[in-house]
Amino acid sequence: MSTMTKKIECPNCGSKKAFEDTNTGTIESQINCPRCGYARSVSYKRDEDGKPILKDENGEDDIDNYIPEVKELADPYGAFMIKYIDGMVQMGCLEDEDDMEEFEKWVKKLKKNNNVELIKVSRVVDEEKKEKILYKREEQGV
Ligand SMILES: [Zn+2]
Repeated sequence: MSTMTKKIECPNCGSKKAFEDTNTGTIESQINCPRCGYARSVSYKRDEDGKPILKDENGEDDIDNYIPEVKELADPYGAFMIKYIDGMVQMGCLEDEDDMEEFEKWVKKLKKNNNVELIKVSRVVDEEKKEKILYKREEQGV
């Protein structure tokens, strides 16, 4: 199984940098926007063995006959980005202010690990992008 990623336009803020990951094996997909934090995932109801449950039991084993479960974060607080020293990048969405508070606690722990280069949060407020840098690693006397 592999994942296919394509750039799409964010349905919330219109950013062209949103992306959709589709698992080519399970056809489940996830949209994330690194600008405003919009997220939407589509998965399919499965039975205990992991097989998709069919709407029409006698119908075909086809995506049109699966039961979709859609989760949408339509009014996000923002999106975060963590860039590690080894080049790994982690991105995610923040649902609300509580989520942001939790994230800030996590950031405190991350700083101690000393393996992070940059941590920032991006939000869209009144259609304007606001970016906040929570942490930036100091240049270590190169
Ligand atoms: Zn967006």
